[in-house]
Amino acid sequence: SARIELENLSKRYPGSPSPAVDDVSMEIRPGETVVLVGPSGCGKSTTLRMINRLIEPSSGRIRIDGEDVTRIDPVRLRREVGYAIQSSGLFPHMTVAENIALVPRMLGWSRARVRERVEEMLVLVGLDPGEFHGRYPRRLSGGQQQRVGVARALAADPPVLLMDEPFGAVDPITRDHLQDELVRLQRELRKTIVFVTHDLDEAIRLGDRIAVLRERSRIAQFDTPEAILTGP
Ligand code: ADP
Ligand code: ADP
Repeated sequence: SARIELENLSKRYPGSPSPAVDDVSMEIRPGETVVLVGPSGCGKSTTLRMINRLIEPSSGRIRIDGEDVTRIDPVRLRREVGYAIQSSGLFPHMTVAENIALVPRMLGWSRARVRERVEEMLVLVGLDPGEFHGRYPRRLSGGQQQRVGVARALAADPPVLLMDEPFGAVDPITRDHLQDELVRLQRELRKTIVFVTHDLDEAIRLGDRIAVLRERSRIAQFDTPEAILTGP
């Protein structure tokens, strides 16, 4: 696991009158799950996507274990930072196995090692490899797609995991189940996780600490679930 530091981070999209993210600073400790919670449009995804450089900040800095992310080469960044998003983001023209193998292949792992890792990841997220390996995403339920999305994000064993409403598109019962499994997984894996949601209940269930965000990702409160529930 790794430490993540956001330092005076801002993002203004071209043509937009006001910044989507305005001067956010935050430190996320190694092995900690931090949940960013706040209303739709407050800049959560933008903040998250700057960490793995899907979006470049307008100003400010991000460091992972002290290293400025702009100095980390793109392939290594994919290895260091897993990314799981709402409705799984699986590539529809690729099988489950090909989706999970994406980053390991990019890293040049051998075929045998990739194959073994795919099996391992399917077992980890509770899917039978024999049954799911060769399936296409459209032949999976929403919950199964989310599991594969998480398996893909974890495949290269990244120390950092970014999750953007990963359970947003599944029914409440499946979501409940997936949340439980993430808690269980995290006890084992101890990744540094930044998890985005608009659902305070989900934040309280998953977060070691919760950052309550207002507009432009300004931090209203950053504390443990217990402290957030008790109020200031
Ligand atoms: P959240 O994840 O909290 O819903 P976002 O980070 O997606 O918020 O969006 C923050 C703000 O930035 C919103 O006002 C949104 O409309 C705007 N925004 C997001 N992506 C873009 C983009 N690619 N171009 C312009 N504006 C964007
Ligand atoms: P969008 O926001 O339109 O879904 P993105 O630009 O975030 O698309 O990503 C395009 C695709 O690449 C998505 O399916 C996404 O899940 C995948 N992807 C992006 N970053 C990573 C990463 N670090 N590791 C694995 N897959 C990634």
